[in-house]
Amino acid sequence: MTEKRGAEKRSGARRPGIINDLRNLSFKNGDEDKVLDARFISAYKGKLAVKKAGTGGRSFSLGVLFISPELKAGNRYSIDTVKHEYGHTVQLKRLGLAVYLKAVARPSMKSKETGREYYSLPWEVTADMLGGVEREHAEGSEERGEAYLADWLPRRRAKKASEMKNRPGC
Ligand SMILES: [Zn+2]
Repeated sequence: MTEKRGAEKRSGARRPGIINDLRNLSFKNGDEDKVLDARFISAYKGKLAVKKAGTGGRSFSLGVLFISPELKAGNRYSIDTVKHEYGHTVQLKRLGLAVYLKAVARPSMKSKETGREYYSLPWEVTADMLGGVEREHAEGSEERGEAYLADWLPRRRAKKASEMKNRPGC
């Protein structure tokens, strides 16, 4: 009994998940399986990744990767989802939060499509591309996605310019 407990202690099997997560936490991590194996939190390519239940099995990103706990390490779709969510954080960085919410988050929440059609939508296909997901997309959707993002980019610049102009004392 004592010996067994000692062995468990050494292996970390009885340690609460969050403690293990914090021990393993590395912002340099680029292994999708480590994100999927974490109990609550991990990191991926410099971004925090959080296991989030109650998202209807969907994963989403707002600079932090929210990953559905239903996704499993070693599973192709799960690994692609981590990469895809990271791709959304790249979109966010490029567009800025205000534009990202309009151009990506809002249409993404509304779209009901699944599978190939869903991942061929302009705001989704570009997350795949920026995250390095190799997935089959509808014909021409990658070009349409790039054009879509390019179309939103000037709105970020315009918004920043007006913020600068309105800043008091500038
Ligand atoms: Zn997405």
